[in-house]
Amino acid sequence: MTPISERVQAIMADIRRVELATGRTQNSVQLLAVSKTQPAASIRAAWLAGQRAFGENYLQEALDKMAALSDLPLEWHFIGPVQSNKTRPIAEHFDWVHGVDRLKIAQRLNDARPPGQPPLNICIEVNLSGESSKGGIPPAQAYPLAQAVMALPNLHLRGLMAIPAVSDDVALQRRQFRMLHDLFDELRSRGLPLDTLSMGMSGDFAAAIAEGATIVRIGSAIFGPRPTK
Ligand SMILES: *Cc1c(COP(=O)(O)O)cnc(C)c1O
Repeated sequence: MTPISERVQAIMADIRRVELATGRTQNSVQLLAVSKTQPAASIRAAWLAGQRAFGENYLQEALDKMAALSDLPLEWHFIGPVQSNKTRPIAEHFDWVHGVDRLKIAQRLNDARPPGQPPLNICIEVNLSGESSKGGIPPAQAYPLAQAVMALPNLHLRGLMAIPAVSDDVALQRRQFRMLHDLFDELRSRGLPLDTLSMGMSGDFAAAIAEGATIVRIGSAIFGPRPTK
């Protein structure tokens, strides 16, 4: 198997290639390496290849890896569903939270962010498919939630995040990502200072970049398949 360091570099090169091919500004897309279920040693290998930002979905697993890697200056993103009884450790240990879809969760993260730390970076998760089984707020409710998050002093509202339905159909991938970008533009035109579109994973990041992603969240294409639970 290709070493992790080589795959980090290959994905970075892919991202730059797609930026160029789709008329995006060079280096406008950031790679978030999704390291859930992967051991600390794999994160260290990615760090050696220049990767700094890592995404985790499971709190206890993430805290264990943070402790094992505390010698490295890493940026940690919580990208899983946020349960309200986990908001304190998330606010204490992470730099970003991508899955905020309720005001109550935002308020709890705000209240638990330790004084002296910079505001916690927040993306609001939007449900593009309308399936009620999925996380995320309906697009029509994103503006009022974003306004309410803006008013919380210990949070820094950065933008929108979505996990669209998985599909091999590139036209469908692009339509979904375009919906999120349109909503992002609408919120900006209504005065919200957003700078982040967190969208695209291993199977669809090229379509996401073509439609304006600024953060792509990539796991298996870097670390290999995850063990099935
Ligand atoms: C697991 C996960 C990813 C990474 O998925 P891959 O298909 O392995 O790239 C991205 N975003 C979220 C929210 C995830 O849970």
